[in-house]
Amino acid sequence: MWEKCVKQLKGELTSAEYNTWILPLQARIDADVLRLFAPNRFVLDWTRQHYEPRLLELCSLHSEGQVSRITFSVGGIDQSVAEPDPTPAPSRPRASASAPAVATAGGDDRDRQLSANLNPDFTFDSFVEGKSNQLARAASFQVGQNPGTAYNPLFIYGGVGLGKTHLMHAVGNMVLASNPNARVAYLHSERFVAEMIKALQHNRIDEFKRTYRSVNALLIDDVQFFAGKERSQEEFFHTFNALFESRQQIVLSSDRFPKEVVGLEERLRSRFGWGLTVSIEPPDLETSVAILHSKASLLGVDLPEDVAFFVGRRIRSNIRELEGALRRLVANAQFTGKPITLDFAKHALRDMLAAQDKQVSIENIQKTVAEYFKLRASDMLSAKRSRSIARPRQIAMALAKDLTKHSLPEIGNAFGGRDHTTVLHATRKIKSLRESDAGVEEDYRNLLRILTS
Ligand code: ADP
Ligand code: MG
Repeated sequence: MWEKCVKQLKGELTSAEYNTWILPLQARIDADVLRLFAPNRFVLDWTRQHYEPRLLELCSLHSEGQVSRITFSVGGIDQSVAEPDPTPAPSRPRASASAPAVATAGGDDRDRQLSANLNPDFTFDSFVEGKSNQLARAASFQVGQNPGTAYNPLFIYGGVGLGKTHLMHAVGNMVLASNPNARVAYLHSERFVAEMIKALQHNRIDEFKRTYRSVNALLIDDVQFFAGKERSQEEFFHTFNALFESRQQIVLSSDRFPKEVVGLEERLRSRFGWGLTVSIEPPDLETSVAILHSKASLLGVDLPEDVAFFVGRRIRSNIRELEGALRRLVANAQFTGKPITLDFAKHALRDMLAAQDKQVSIENIQKTVAEYFKLRASDMLSAKRSRSIARPRQIAMALAKDLTKHSLPEIGNAFGGRDHTTVLHATRKIKSLRESDAGVEEDYRNLLRILTS
């Protein structure tokens, strides 16, 4: 019943809204009451305020009128409350004073070293807001303003080059701007692992522990790289607990939803979801164009509107690539002394765009998917309905939708003359499988990589 409601809501909301507010909810039905559990008060308030009437409607519909009431509480069905109690967090000076003493001189050095990890250019000011990143930005901003008390941990997830690292630095920079004495540590998870190994080798693990357990904000990027590294996970687990309990801020990022990070211990995965989890999506055209203009003005270049739209339209999925294209344009213009016009841009970017175009033929997708699953390319077009063929075919359709600009009817046509509703069904099916089945997600990502590299 709840699954049905969720499924329907998923169709009604943007994926960012869905992932942030609905996905973290757990549900239990007691007689005529639907009991919803939210990971924290923030999610609870928001969900209740924005979705309660619709939830009630849907639940009543799907339970044939049995459910007539919804209750909301913080915590999980099976685990007790995960929220820190709402009393104000200890002020930062007190937190530092109560933190294990770090040798003074070394401690000062370390502070500087920790802070130096932040890129001063990655701020909220330089972050262009759009529909695709609005929630992630708003949540990060709140965390930057009220570290340790807004929501903890903040978990940002999304694809490559969409601004996760930028936002994490922005949080760190903001915390430091309002309190220059705050101890902020930004690290990529691989760096955390490397530092831990180094500390172990040099018998300095206690110092390592003290350092990271006494920060006011710990920002760990790309936590999927903790996968399979048990000793690091163990250490991080204790660091997490120490910071969480003393209400110091934790911000994490990953390329996927916490529950889907494979190779991660369950206790970490569940902790990652204790606070607020927000997704960041590929930008829409308007946001891409706005980002191009903003980056251009940082480079001191005036970018004509038609060029911005041209680049934005051609490079859709990754802001890092968008920046790469812009940098190439600017370098080329400076080198040749020519103004950046549309023709100039088409010429300067032709290799880059040709490489992009290579990936967008449906035929190429069909061939690659067939090879990947060891099927014949003709299976992609055939009427065979056995699962071992139908599923890869659905994956290929979803990839065609994601990677090409063809319409649903065109895609259906290219898949042996299928109806556009079949394609729509396939894309929805794969989207939901990618969220629920780690194997499908992995296959999909592998294929994306093969097709786009
Ligand atoms: P991720 O960590 O998600 O892979 P990054 O944060 O490294 O992505 O972003 C890649 C590049 O795109 C960075 O240079 C970043 O400044 C830029 N970028 C991403 N999103 C935005 C945005 N909304 N506004 C401005 N620049 C952005
Ligand atoms: Mg990153």
